[in-house]
Amino acid sequence: MTKKADYTICSVPDHINVTCPHCDMDDDYNWDKLYARLGNDLYFGNCGTIECSYCEQDIELGDYEYD
Ligand SMILES: [Zn+2]
Repeated sequence: MTKKADYTICSVPDHINVTCPHCDMDDDYNWDKLYARLGNDLYFGNCGTIECSYCEQDIELGDYEYD
């Protein structure tokens, strides 16, 4: 006999969006690439630095928020 169950659709982060504190440009950074480098801390903020894709200066990742 088949029984019915409700289910939850779980979303996975795709990218983060950061405004560069040096040049003020904002850009999207691929989640998987960052996650591979920074690990689970990426979910909690203050987890490391990325390089701005415009001015190539380091950006220290601070607090996060969900969109
Ligand atoms: Zn920049």
